[in-house]
Amino acid sequence: MKLALRAQGINPSPTLAIDAKAKQMIKDGLDIIGFGAGEPDFDTPEVIKDEAIAALKRGDTKYTPASGSVSLKEAVCFKMQRDHGLEYKPNQVVICCGAKHALYNLFQVICDPGDEVIIPAPYWVSYSEQVALAGAKPVFIPTHEAGCFKMTAEQLRSAITGKTVALILNSPSNPTGAVYSRQELEAIAAIAVEKNIIVVSDEIYEQLIYEGEHVSIATINPQIKDLTIIINGVSKTFAMTGWRIGYAVGDAKVIKAMGDLQSHSTSNPTTFCQAASVLALKNPPQEKITAMVSEFKRRREYMVDTVNKIPGLSCLKPAGAFYVFASIKGIIGKEYFGRKVSDADGFAELLLEHAKVAVVPGNGFGAPEYIRLSYATSFEKIEKGLSRIAEFVTEG
Ligand code: PMP
Ligand code: GLU
Repeated sequence: MKLALRAQGINPSPTLAIDAKAKQMIKDGLDIIGFGAGEPDFDTPEVIKDEAIAALKRGDTKYTPASGSVSLKEAVCFKMQRDHGLEYKPNQVVICCGAKHALYNLFQVICDPGDEVIIPAPYWVSYSEQVALAGAKPVFIPTHEAGCFKMTAEQLRSAITGKTVALILNSPSNPTGAVYSRQELEAIAAIAVEKNIIVVSDEIYEQLIYEGEHVSIATINPQIKDLTIIINGVSKTFAMTGWRIGYAVGDAKVIKAMGDLQSHSTSNPTTFCQAASVLALKNPPQEKITAMVSEFKRRREYMVDTVNKIPGLSCLKPAGAFYVFASIKGIIGKEYFGRKVSDADGFAELLLEHAKVAVVPGNGFGAPEYIRLSYATSFEKIEKGLSRIAEFVTEG
């Protein structure tokens, strides 16, 4: 059967693929340690679950408006005011089936063929694919460990052309954990305003921060606020990955177009999940979030220290999110079990096969000399998995 050109070019999400593979291997009885998961290992707080159950019982089982319920849009506005001092109206909010879906809808409505979207690399795997699916061209700005994986304003300026429509900013970053300071954002905002480009600010990890503070670029000044579309959702902060609720906030015309597009694809996100998300945003179970963040911090310390002791591996201390992005430059070129490692894909395969550890190779993030290790897994598993990796590289 014929496949459209659009479909022929899709690279499936490697993060989801690795996670699914590791989960299946564990189900099959294999003793695998999974560092692939991009989801909190904590359960959704009970109060949020109770609210979903109550919503079901009171009959929140029908369609809401395709772009999301008014009460959840209002809750998003409330959250933006409370957390960032930003004022938005409900017609500037669209509720989607996860932040990933919000990003997908966004690129579909802002990109034309030939347009360019600037993406600092390493980047989250779905950005480049979604931009390409919208017919636009991803333009990558390389960032390096020496600069804490952050793009400079000068780099941004020189990447902008007459075809640039948008910049994707992801702070805290998946996969590097980099967090941009207010000062750095001011410099970026000044250029975006001067060149009149949209800033897609993916703030899904805003609460998972261990050093510094999260600053939304939209708070820098009213001009950049008008150019920014904030992407966020409940997946990471409230351990609600499976609920599929995300949102976009910003320019009313763009937001309306996203809702219109959604009205012909998924229609509204699940009604009772929206109802429970109202509670999550308005009355967040703060002690649970604080406890989760401090446990992530404890694991981060251990993982960073241990990875830096493994011969051939090294990493920076990530300021946010829940990933360690480790360089394997000291491994590349070495041979294990008769196979020479030429990049992270090959190393990840060897680790899964021989060390029984699942990691995400950096290739999909635009960084083939790195692997991503998620610390959204128990301390015990982190200890076990890292000692397996250490054993593999020293004795392999
Ligand atoms: N952005 C980034 C950077 C992510 O890591 C994720 C995680 N899946 C998402 C967006 C999408 O999150 P979700 O669709 O679960 O809301
Ligand atoms: N964002 C997570 C990750 O990067 C979840 C998987 C995905 O949605 O790609 O692993």
